[in-house]
Amino acid sequence: MKLKRPATPLSVNGDRVCAEIQELSQFMDGEPPGVTRVVFTEADRQARAWLRAKCVNSGLVTREDGVGNFFARWVGSEANTAAVGTGSHCDAIPNSGVYDGTVGVLGGLEAIRTLQESGFKPRRSIELLMFTSEEPTRFGIGCLGSRLLSGRADIGSIDRLLDGEEMSVREAARQSGFNGDLENVCLSSNYYSHFVELHIEQGPVLECESIPIGVVTAIAAPAALRIMFKGEGGHAGTVLMSGRHDALTAAAELALEVERAGRESESADTVATTGVFRPFPGAVNSIPSQCLLEIDVRDTSEKSRNRAVDRIVSFAHQVAGERGVDVLVETINSDPPAVCDTSVVEAVQASASAESLATLDLVSRAYHDSLFMATLTRTGMIFIPCRNGISHRPEEYATPEHICGGVAVLARTLAALSLSEEEA
Ligand SMILES: [Zn+2]
Repeated sequence: MKLKRPATPLSVNGDRVCAEIQELSQFMDGEPPGVTRVVFTEADRQARAWLRAKCVNSGLVTREDGVGNFFARWVGSEANTAAVGTGSHCDAIPNSGVYDGTVGVLGGLEAIRTLQESGFKPRRSIELLMFTSEEPTRFGIGCLGSRLLSGRADIGSIDRLLDGEEMSVREAARQSGFNGDLENVCLSSNYYSHFVELHIEQGPVLECESIPIGVVTAIAAPAALRIMFKGEGGHAGTVLMSGRHDALTAAAELALEVERAGRESESADTVATTGVFRPFPGAVNSIPSQCLLEIDVRDTSEKSRNRAVDRIVSFAHQVAGERGVDVLVETINSDPPAVCDTSVVEAVQASASAESLATLDLVSRAYHDSLFMATLTRTGMIFIPCRNGISHRPEEYATPEHICGGVAVLARTLAALSLSEEEA
């Protein structure tokens, strides 16, 4: 039997998916209206059980790995070929919104149900994923689940991460009913043929341009540095200027250099931010003896990003030498960018056009689990608009119309990739 693409347009059950997005938001650690859902808390466990039941009801085969990544598979007619993956995360930073991540998980489930109800039969299996801890809230590192799945995480350094109660990732996973076996989380390179993530834009471009579908072409490469200057403290009245080794003024010079490194980069996409600037002891009549900076640098080009990082690090040493203070530089993370795969980008564009929805090519300046999935398989992302570009706040909102549009484009994309003959 020749497998066929679904008829146009697909009919998405918008009431169902929007009601489920609201229902999921009731599992929260804090108090409304903000949503807080931290990995391996009671709210997280309840949300997982709720999602699993929905997936089982839709005839999907579910499993979880050692760190709690959740998989729900619609088995295709060629079950042994590489599958097509879709999904996102359900954890939410403190006092956050309802739509970040959840639109990709519940929208992914709705895409599968839409295809099932259309009579479509998948060739490759289509698998929904919910990644563990995309947000760095509990263990200080983002994309924990997808880093491990893609083999981009160093297990030793993951083992050194502790939460605020000194609990390790393994122990917290075990307490939530997973085996904590981080070594076996990594997937083989032929597990997926393609991966596509639906997400709210978390920025204003689509709304400003009145375009319902963003086709992500690249995900910017994030890096973070922690830099500590150590000088000499003293009495602000009695130590004369000639004898000072002020840690804050060295740090201040560096913060300005961080801005210059972003502004003067040869790439228009370089952004560089000093987000933490903490002098010690922080008293008006005391020369700062220490100053801590945390610096975030991103670009779609790893070369330009690294050039900006190198410029910042070498300036930190230079200014420390000039001012007679010590400096300690630590790299928190330095990840490569992702270029979205042409086959996925084209499938998303064709699907949007079949659904009569306009598209705009975009770069994702926030990182997502897809950044790591792209190191494992052909990966792409679909963005939908969110109100005023706001995210990570209780006011975060996406309209039912935009969610339905995103789900329809995702469903059609998954169908096309499921029939694709490309080797994994
Ligand atoms: Zn997200």
